[in-house]
Amino acid sequence: MKTIETKLLVIGGGPGGYVAAIRAGQNGIATVLVEREALGGTCLNVGCIPSKAMLHAADLFQDARRQASDKGHIGIRVADPRIDLGQTVAWKDGIVSKLTSGVGALLKRQGVQVVNGEAHIVDGKTVRVQTAEGELKIVCEHLLLATGSVPVVLPGLPFGNGVLSSSDLLALRAVPRRLAVVGAGYIGLELGTAFSKLGAQVTMVEAQPRVLPTYDEELTRPVAKSVKALGIEVVTGVQAQQFDAKTGRLSVKAQDGSLRDIEADAVLVAVGRRPMTRGMNLESLGLTMNGAAIAVDDRCATSMRNVWAIGDVTGEPMLAHRAMAQGEVAVDVIAGKKRRFDPAVIPAVCFTDPEVVVVGALPEQARAAGIEVTSTTFPFAGNGRAMTLESTDGFVRVVARADDHQILGWHAVGRGVSELSTAFAHSIEMCERLEDAARTIHAHPTLGEAVQEAAHRALGHALHA
Ligand code: FAD
Ligand code: NAD
Repeated sequence: MKTIETKLLVIGGGPGGYVAAIRAGQNGIATVLVEREALGGTCLNVGCIPSKAMLHAADLFQDARRQASDKGHIGIRVADPRIDLGQTVAWKDGIVSKLTSGVGALLKRQGVQVVNGEAHIVDGKTVRVQTAEGELKIVCEHLLLATGSVPVVLPGLPFGNGVLSSSDLLALRAVPRRLAVVGAGYIGLELGTAFSKLGAQVTMVEAQPRVLPTYDEELTRPVAKSVKALGIEVVTGVQAQQFDAKTGRLSVKAQDGSLRDIEADAVLVAVGRRPMTRGMNLESLGLTMNGAAIAVDDRCATSMRNVWAIGDVTGEPMLAHRAMAQGEVAVDVIAGKKRRFDPAVIPAVCFTDPEVVVVGALPEQARAAGIEVTSTTFPFAGNGRAMTLESTDGFVRVVARADDHQILGWHAVGRGVSELSTAFAHSIEMCERLEDAARTIHAHPTLGEAVQEAAHRALGHALHA
């Protein structure tokens, strides 16, 4: 059996693993990266990027249909728009392959050796990989686990026979006539909305009392309103049970035990993801776990010396930018630098219509921590740019300490607000106060002016409200 010796071995080529490997190359660390599927991991191949491509296509199609149906109220004349989902998916795949081949080129430039195959752990310094050319043994000083996550499978709804994972849905060549979506969280809402705009009749099934239940009601209200306006039926407080593909019936159970059938040609199950820890003999290391995830400290170190873990395999929040940031920290620590993974905030964006951004503490989270806060919103109804975008339903909200006005949270809901997340995160990392945000000149006309106005309003002197 061929043996490779290296200083760092990374298992998993997703945003966590590939960023770690690039940074390792920059730090002059000899690195091998093992990936069993495709470089870019979930995010680039079947997650963040393909889903946003499909959302964009769905938005364009929906806009064209709207202009056609109301005879172009802003003067655009469109007749009978059609969607060729096969071509849309091919376009989406083109973006994915450009990005994933770019990752390959970046790794090559940093001298990282990429091995295609499934890694099987022997011990904390040895891994066996089954490749197309035969079995390989890799011996390393440091082992970095970046194996990501996989979708949670509901007992009565295993994938197959019309029950789809998000990856399956993103690969469909035709829009299902009736789509049931189980779970109205990030994936269910993003993809459910997209497929509704692409022409499917969508029903969402959510166990909790409302959509996006981890955020407060004020923040999710505009999303619930838009979902309703799209004609999506949302059935809350129910658990999905089983799907009979022959009859096209998804049975759901309410809390009082009553059963109901929902008609569907396909069912997307998006009820969360679990850390990918199975099938690679990880348990033989006896690492300390945090539930289903690998427990790590603020250097991304596991309970075994020189074994590190980053990204989704370390648990929530399962976001690509967190995985990347952890990857940089872990490898800098391995290189001997003093680094900690200790962000003030990790921004979260739900790319619904309208988009939702959450950066920092929600009002009730701050209050629950015993902090006296002011929570102030500024509506996009008072923002000129929002009017030109025909999206005045949302708002920007700021949460700040009542005593010294330090900003603890920025939240927004509205079309295009995902791009505000950068300024929000920067504001909190830089310990901005309301006065700083209010006195910073924001360009006109932009959605960002609502950020400045929210701060003004919190100080008692909004200009446009
Ligand atoms: P992954 O990207 O899952 O990569 C892990 C890699 O490890 C995989 O390529 C896998 O093949 C490989 N691997 C696993 N085991 C082995 C083994 N034994 N041997 C070799 N290789 C192995 N996050 C956002 O921040 N923004 C978004 O908009 C967003 N949208 C999403 C949309 C969807 C539909 C989904 C499913 C997820 C989305 N996410 C989003 C989440 C994001 O994709 C993940 O948080 C991110 O990919 C985690 O990166 P990672 O490197 O930890 O793991
Ligand atoms: P999620 O946790 O966001 O939502 C799952 C939803 O399913 C919850 O609302 C939950 O109450 C519901 N649910 C659970 N069991 C149910 C049942 N039996 N019947 C009905 N409803 C049920 O999970 P997700 O949407 O699968 O996404 C997984 C992860 O992927 C997210 O947590 C996030 O970290 C990541 N992601 C991020 C983005 C983004 O950043 N824009 C987009 C997609 C995914």
